[in-house]
Amino acid sequence: MKKKAEEIRNILIKHGEFFQNAIPLIASENITSPAVDEACNSDFSHRYAEGWVGQRVYAGCKYIDMVEDICMELAKEYFKCVHADVRPISGVVANLAMYNAFTSDNNGKMLIMPIPKGGHISHAPKFTKSGMAIYGTAGTVRGLNIEYMAFDNDEMNIDPDATAKIIREVKPEMVLFGGSVFLFPHPVKELSDVAKEVGANVGYDAAHVAGLIGSGYFQDPLNEGADAMTLSTHKTLPGPQHGALLSNREDLIDTLRLCTFPALLSNHHLHNVAGLAITLAEMLEFGREYHKNVIDNAKALGQALYERGINVIMEHKGFTESHQIVVDITNFEKTIGLGGDIERLVEEANIVINRNLLPWDIAQGRHYQNPGGLRLGTSEVTRLGMGKSEMVDIAEFFKDLLIDKKDPKKVKQDVLEFRKDFQEIKYCFQSPNKAHEYMKFY
Ligand SMILES: *Cc1c(COP(=O)(O)O)cnc(C)c1O
Repeated sequence: MKKKAEEIRNILIKHGEFFQNAIPLIASENITSPAVDEACNSDFSHRYAEGWVGQRVYAGCKYIDMVEDICMELAKEYFKCVHADVRPISGVVANLAMYNAFTSDNNGKMLIMPIPKGGHISHAPKFTKSGMAIYGTAGTVRGLNIEYMAFDNDEMNIDPDATAKIIREVKPEMVLFGGSVFLFPHPVKELSDVAKEVGANVGYDAAHVAGLIGSGYFQDPLNEGADAMTLSTHKTLPGPQHGALLSNREDLIDTLRLCTFPALLSNHHLHNVAGLAITLAEMLEFGREYHKNVIDNAKALGQALYERGINVIMEHKGFTESHQIVVDITNFEKTIGLGGDIERLVEEANIVINRNLLPWDIAQGRHYQNPGGLRLGTSEVTRLGMGKSEMVDIAEFFKDLLIDKKDPKKVKQDVLEFRKDFQEIKYCFQSPNKAHEYMKFY
């Protein structure tokens, strides 16, 4: 079995080398600093600390309490809120805790973004196949009935007037904003009062945009009427994979706490709580600069692709106000193929992206396996130190592949050369530091 262990190490090293030589444009990914990596490899990863700081169900927690306390304080400072629970182990688990707090556990009604327009599977109703629940966390786990907001394809956003009507008709227990395709701030301010009118609580899933919110460049949901906000800590926030739940409702704090533990968790991945605490310190120091550049780069990449004949949508609104852009690639259907085909093609040139449904795909008969769109994000390339001129270089690689139909093996050589200058992680306290370096302990 020693061979197996060696084999696994070699695969991990190869994976690191692949990313060292690639252009990572997946909108839900980012890269952690050496300080965060070190914390995530600490002895915290072997421990339990059930319960709240100072009221643990386990012994041996005195240092864990100190770090989790710092983590909560930094989260409250960064997000300007009164309650921060940093125990949810992922965004999906944070969402479940929020459903626990805001809905009845069977047949509660929740209003969400339609999934094909950018909503997330963790918001979705239960879908069954041969009697087995296969899809949709909110329906499968919490038994929720799901209703949908109205979406305006031309604005790539929730339609506030039509949705206000739906809220008044449907009278949900909870209205949930946020999603995975997320170009522009959602109308939280416009709709929170309507939600309150029918007695609904308002949730905001900031999995994608948490860093943009913390650094002050997106909307501020907790100030616009959201009762709670959930997040993933590894998308625009460049932290370890983890989650958190935030609120400004003092009267809800006890309930929210219990809805996380004991309702959902036993261990809460303490090593990642330590890593998250360091990430928050990094973002309190560098986030204003980092996230400004993330958004500027997304707009610049959108513009550069558009100028080269690649159909980035929402040109009339400057493409995006976030870290993502969405590309309609249906004009390549005859020559190359759809989203899945293009995803594979550009990966041959070491460019990592993901295919994505366009809001009108389902209506036009396309499917999520091979949809009409791509989603590109700039969080990770920005953390590697790239700026606007590199966004133009990246757009050129796309033109080489999609329009000029150059051999992806040739383009890969250019990508390798380009990537050599971006091997360090920026916006952190260590320097110089090599990105994707494999840490050997033996
Ligand atoms: C990514 C994502 C999640 C899931 O986050 P995990 O941390 O992977 O569990 C939840 N909601 C939305 C909108 C997302 O995009």
